[in-house]
Parts: sequence; structure tokens; C-alpha cells
Amino acid sequence: MKRIAILGATGSIGTQALEVAAAHDDLQVVALAAGSDVDGLVAAARATDAEVLALADPAAAERAAAELGRPVLSGPNALVELIDASGPDVVLNAVVGAAGLEASLATLERGYDLALANKESLVAGGDLVLAAARAGGGRILPVDSEHSALQQCLGDTPREQLTSLVITASGGPFRGRTRAGLAEITVEQALAHPTWAMGAKITVDSATLMNKGLEVIEAHMLFDLPYSQIEVVVHPQSIVHGMARLRDGALIAHLGHPDMRVPISYALTYPRREAVPARPLEWSEAFSLDFQPPDLETFGCLRLAIEAGEAGGTAPAVLNAANEIAVAAFLAGAIGFLAIEELVADALDHVAVQPLDSLAAVVAADAAARARVEVRIGEGAA
Ligand code: NDP
Ligand code: MG
Repeated sequence: MKRIAILGATGSIGTQALEVAAAHDDLQVVALAAGSDVDGLVAAARATDAEVLALADPAAAERAAAELGRPVLSGPNALVELIDASGPDVVLNAVVGAAGLEASLATLERGYDLALANKESLVAGGDLVLAAARAGGGRILPVDSEHSALQQCLGDTPREQLTSLVITASGGPFRGRTRAGLAEITVEQALAHPTWAMGAKITVDSATLMNKGLEVIEAHMLFDLPYSQIEVVVHPQSIVHGMARLRDGALIAHLGHPDMRVPISYALTYPRREAVPARPLEWSEAFSLDFQPPDLETFGCLRLAIEAGEAGGTAPAVLNAANEIAVAAFLAGAIGFLAIEELVADALDHVAVQPLDSLAAVVAADAAARARVEVRIGEGAA
């Protein structure tokens, strides 16, 4: 029996993880956490035997506690308290944003396995997360579909035989557009992803290609590869999720219809594989797979992310935090689509990069970037 804590239980990944766990007797959900969604947490608590519950928002936690007639943790340390109180084997971190970083660190430091959907943890605090894994002995099991695929393509291939890792990108809803064609994008258009149904923030990140940029940094951290050995290719069908290019010219690929239950299940049941009711690829009808190079001029967020990754230190934390504020402002109708990229570039130009040597350094960089973007939005810069 594996004891699982689900952080971000009310979200897109969290609810799919609950579905995966419900289908397997040997996965036991012992803890559930979310931000402020009382109804979502209450429903998840009633559907599972979870012993420990948390909502980051104290007022929401009080309402959920009243409804369930049992305690619900809350406040800034709620996620870490929940991990300690539940003593899980695996923590699925499906919180959105850098808000998930401390829970990732706590999980690994305590030697628990981390099923990681919250890529922002690795982007903002990469070296700290890796150090926590080394110190505590917890394993990082990627949930992001591309990284789950890459881990499987790599297998136990000796590192000197690997030439590069290839991350596929659907290209998002605006693939093929010019920059001028991005100026008038509405929130509704940005939220209409062609192949994946996901939370709002990652859906906008997929439209700007920032998501792919975050994933390049994530791959750099997870697989300890220089940026020169991480390739991005646009693949509109989202059927090939990742590829490993080997020195003899072979490309090992991982394929399947886009369905996050597959990588979620792999991370939760690792090293076993359990059945997932995903639609199989069928050969009875013809279909094709297309590949094209990414357009780094039109989708500058991908380029900015790779540059921030190469700069290192707190630069990726600045990129991530600036992007979080800019995306929230875009979703609120306060700024246009192209302003996301402009605000992230501005933050990278104005927030000094520091060495990434402590959580305090990440927190300071994150706060400075958020403040810079908020001021620029307040000035009407976007
Ligand atoms: P959603 O927006 O659907 O869900 C986010 C979850 O995080 C919700 O449960 C939310 O709770 C919770 N949350 C937000 N803030 C806090 C906080 N401070 N403390 C605790 N919980 C919090 O996002 P997704 O499920 O789409 O994405 C989650 C993560 O997984 C992201 O990092 C994303 O990049 C990554 N990911 C997602 C994929 C997908 O297919 N959706 C694919 C690959 C990666 P509440 O509902 O109460 O606000
Ligand atoms: Mg992904």
C-alpha cells in the first residue's frame, strides 16, 4: 500500500490524480490540500479516507472544517504541516506556481518521494530542490508529460551515449501566427488549448510558449544536462511526448494520446505500471505526426526562459514570478497577451540576479520580480 498526499487536490492534475488513486487498491490517499476551494476540498475529503486536510486560505479552511466537522490546517506552513502530520510515501505536488516550492523541499528533505507536477518549484528553486533530494533521499518522479516520457526514454542509458533530450510542444492555440497576429488575443482564445485541458495558468503559459521554456529549465534540472543538449520541437498532435537522441543516431520516443492520467499514474505507482483507461493509439485509421521548429521570434517567452536558465542563479525565479503576475493580470483583463512577454523581459532586465544559495534568496528574487511587474502594470506600461 502506498500512502499518497495530494497537494493541489482541487485542480486539473489533482482531480485526475484522485481518479487514478481511486482505481487502484494499493494507492491510499492520506492527505489533501488546496488553496481556497472549499467545495472541491470537501468533496475530495468525502470521496477518500484522507486523514489530514489543508486549505491555504484561513477563512476557507474554517468553512471547510465546519462543513466536515473535523480540523483543516491552514496558513503559510499548512502544506509542510500536512506532510508531517500524514507521513506519506509519495507527495504529489500539483499546486500551481512558486507557492509549491517549500512543499517540494520539505517532501524531499524528509526522504519522501515527490511526484512533481509543480514545475515552478524546479524552475524557481532548482538547485535547492536537488540538494534537498540528495540530503533527504527522496526521489523526484516527474509528472509533467514530457519529463515523464523523457525519464522513460532514457531508462538506464549511460550518460555518455546520450546526445540530447527532445521536448515536444503542441505550439498552443496560436501556432503559425505572426507577432502582429498576437496583439489582439482575448483571454477566451488563449484558454482554448488545442490538445490539453489544464488549469488556466498553464494554459496561458502554453499559448505564450512560456510553459515550454519552464519545461526546458525543468529538464535541465531533472536530467542534469546543459541547455545545449535540450531541444524543443513543435509537434501539433501532442502524441510524441519526448525523445532521447542517442549517439548512434537513434531517437527513442514515447507516444500516446495526450492524457495526464498516464504520467500521473506512472509517477504514483513507480516503479510499477498499472492500467490506465486512456484511449489507445489505433492503427485502423491513418494519422500523421508533424514536426516543425519553434518560432522563437514570435513566441519570445521560450527564448527568455532559456536565457534565464542559462544565466542561472535567481534568474529563473525572477522569470517565473514575473510570469505568474503577468499571466494573472492577463487573465484578469488588465493587460494584453504580448505584455506578458514584455513584463517578463522587463523584470529580467531590472531585478539583479543573485546566487541561488538559500530559500531566502529565492523568496527575495520572487518578491522583487512580483513587485517590479505590479509597479509596471500600475504605471500602465502594458
Ligand atoms: P489548477 O489551477 O487546475 O490547480 C491548481 C491547484 O493548486 C488547485 O488545487 C489550487 O487550489 C491549488 N493551490 C493554488 N495555490 C495554492 C496554495 N497556495 N496552497 C495550496 N494549494 C494551492 O492547475 P493545474 O492542475 O493545471 O496545474 C498544477 C501544476 O501542475 C502546475 O504547476 C502546472 O504547471 C503543472 N502541470 C499541469 C498539467 C495539466 O495538465 N494541468 C500538465 C503538466 C504540469 P484551489 O482550487 O483551492 O485554488
Ligand atoms: Mg508538459
